[in-house]
Parts: sequence; structure tokens; C-alpha cells
Amino acid sequence: MTKPKEAEVRLKRKRDYNREWMREYQRKNPLTEEQKRLKREYAKNHYYKNKKRLNKQSSDYMKSPRGKEINKKRRLNNLEKHKCRDFINHAIRDGKIEKFPCSVCGNIASEGHHEDYTKPLEVIWLCRKHHTLKHAEIKKLRGSNE
Ligand SMILES: [Zn+2]
Ligand SMILES: [Zn+2]
Repeated sequence: MTKPKEAEVRLKRKRDYNREWMREYQRKNPLTEEQKRLKREYAKNHYYKNKKRLNKQSSDYMKSPRGKEINKKRRLNNLEKHKCRDFINHAIRDGKIEKFPCSVCGNIASEGHHEDYTKPLEVIWLCRKHHTLKHAEIKKLRGSNE
């Protein structure tokens, strides 16, 4: 029973590698506005042409055990985030925590970030950009742990 799993891991590694490579390539060769427009157009057309099939594909996937699991995780995750955001807003209002500018660049339009959602008072303040980067970092770290 170990064989298929190994193949899966290898496939995942290959996919990650390809993704990294694409990202690197895109960074070195940024698309022109015209190319971006064409790409968007193409994606839109592709979606409209295959709307039924694509929708069915994704709804079939979401009905599969794996899809259900992902859905559940996503919902839970969002719930935690919402809870956290509400908590931060209330805590700021009640003067329990103080809002600070982005800890990386000093932007005052900052958002509270939690390393650990179970410790809502431990907040790191980050602007939208650095918050997004932070999450990308976390995702990468989690990915390599798997
Ligand atoms: Zn920032
Ligand atoms: Zn965050």
C-alpha cells in the first residue's frame, strides 16, 4: 500500500517544482498589459465555453470525500478568522489592545495578524501587503512540513 502514496508524493513534489519554476519565470518575464488582457480574455472564454463541464467537475469534486474534507476545513478556517477579527475590533474598542502600524513597513492601515488563533490577544500588526506575504510564508512552511 505504500506504492501509490509514494507516487502521489512524487507528483506533488513535481507540481510544486513546476509551480515554483513558473513563478520564477513570470518574475523574470513579466507580462505586458496586452498579454495580460489576452490571458484574462482567454480564461474568461474558456470558462464560458466549458462552464457546465467545469462547474460539474468542481461540484463533483466537492461531493467527493476529499472535497468535503477541504470544504469543511475551509469553513472552519474562515469561521476562526471571523471570530478573531470581531474579537480584535472589540478589544481595540474596549482598549484591551492597541492598534499599531505595520511592523514591517510602518503603514498605519494595518490589520491584526494571529500566529495562533487560539491566542487572540497575541496580535502582530501588518499592512495588507505584508499580511498577505506573511500568510504566503506560513502556507509555504506548512507545505514543507507535510
Ligand atoms: Zn507593511
Ligand atoms: Zn493573518
